[in-house]
Amino acid sequence: DRSDGTYAGFDQQHAHLTLPATLCYAQGLEGRAAEVKFELPAGWKAATQLRPLGEDRTTFAAPNLQYLLDSPVVLGSQQLLHTWQDGGRTFEMATYYSGSTTEVEAFVKKTQQVVREAAGVFGGEYPAFDYGRYTFLGDYLPEATGDGMEHRNSTSLTSPLPLREEGALRNLGTVSHEFFHAYNTERLRSKGLEPFDFQRVNMSDALWFGEGFTQYYGELMLRRAGAYDDEQFLDKVSQWVNVRVNSPGARYASAVEMSRQAGFVDAGVSIDPTNRTNTYLSYYYQGAGIALALDLQLRQRYRTSLDKYMQALWQEYGKPQTPSFAPAKPYTLPDLQRVLGVVAKDTAFAGTFFRRYVYGHDTPRFAENLALAGLAVVPTKALAAALPRQVEFTEDGRCLLSRNTTLGSGLYKAGIDRGDEIMMLDGVKITDLATLEGVMRKHTPADLVPVRVRNRAGVERTTQ
Ligand SMILES: [Zn+2]
Repeated sequence: DRSDGTYAGFDQQHAHLTLPATLCYAQGLEGRAAEVKFELPAGWKAATQLRPLGEDRTTFAAPNLQYLLDSPVVLGSQQLLHTWQDGGRTFEMATYYSGSTTEVEAFVKKTQQVVREAAGVFGGEYPAFDYGRYTFLGDYLPEATGDGMEHRNSTSLTSPLPLREEGALRNLGTVSHEFFHAYNTERLRSKGLEPFDFQRVNMSDALWFGEGFTQYYGELMLRRAGAYDDEQFLDKVSQWVNVRVNSPGARYASAVEMSRQAGFVDAGVSIDPTNRTNTYLSYYYQGAGIALALDLQLRQRYRTSLDKYMQALWQEYGKPQTPSFAPAKPYTLPDLQRVLGVVAKDTAFAGTFFRRYVYGHDTPRFAENLALAGLAVVPTKALAAALPRQVEFTEDGRCLLSRNTTLGSGLYKAGIDRGDEIMMLDGVKITDLATLEGVMRKHTPADLVPVRVRNRAGVERTTQ
């Protein structure tokens, strides 16, 4: 009962199937071709990247297990199918949507523009889709879980947001990101992800590139397609700068090390409490920040661009694919570094860049790089202290810290942590949110105030 990019969801109108969550397979027979037949209720249709056998599109073939399990399938009675040709390829968008057909048509038009921008990044060419066709599987229904998942010749797009106004723009952002993955990650692919292991986690050193650079381009393509204006795009730039500059985690682990945590953070969570607030930074945003800094440096110092870098990587590592539909030359980090040296015509620059920002903990020099693009990085004033958003009140009026305190914050410096109780603040007994907010209003974030705390072991003390 979960329609998204990882699981399987069934209801009376439709089914959204991620095949690893749907099918069993026999170990040892992974190389065999497979055939799947869906026995559908009357009027139901199927959409998938699998190869259809016959006109009725209920029976499909896959050359091997990897391709079969890489192929999400959407089944249902109210499928809208839009098909178009571009650059010698066939694209189709199968949508399930409870709103108007006009909204779907407008969304398909915007999708077509974004798709062309992706080709533009890679020198105007589309990937050689395995059966000449790429399929967008759009499940825009209230019961869907917001998600996007890339595949070789399709993407699973699930969202409860409508295809209008802000919802349409956010859904288009997912389209943009996921279609970029048809190049970056599906074909231009990290060696750590190959072959995909259905028994245990594949660990990759390069998700800052696979996801992070895709995050950067997902947003940039929306600007290039005219879906964002400058201000909307620069909001994203600010976000990337903010998370990197303010993240305590990035001081302790490199982009490579953050990538290796994917198995624990990307929907792979467990029940044990962690200190990720202080030790982790998403490789999506960390990688987007690296892409931004690199794009600016390539433009300013080397009269080239990140597009040219992506094109060079695409030609060497992305285009070559095996007859059984797998990347023939998955890349390693030294490969990425070497090609950067070639594109910049400066191997020393590539070495330094990787040593500092990929393997190392250095913060990209955003202010310096953005200044040359006419943009200033200006710290904003803290508007209010965050304490009221970090506590919970029990029924008997105890004020408990509900989240990890952030390294460098006032709470952290005072040695106050999750689970501790704030008894008095600035001489006032704290029993409810209104009282706490009343005390907070009398102070600015820079003030020192006495605080009486009881830690989770029951020991009381006064600090400030
Ligand atoms: Zn992604």
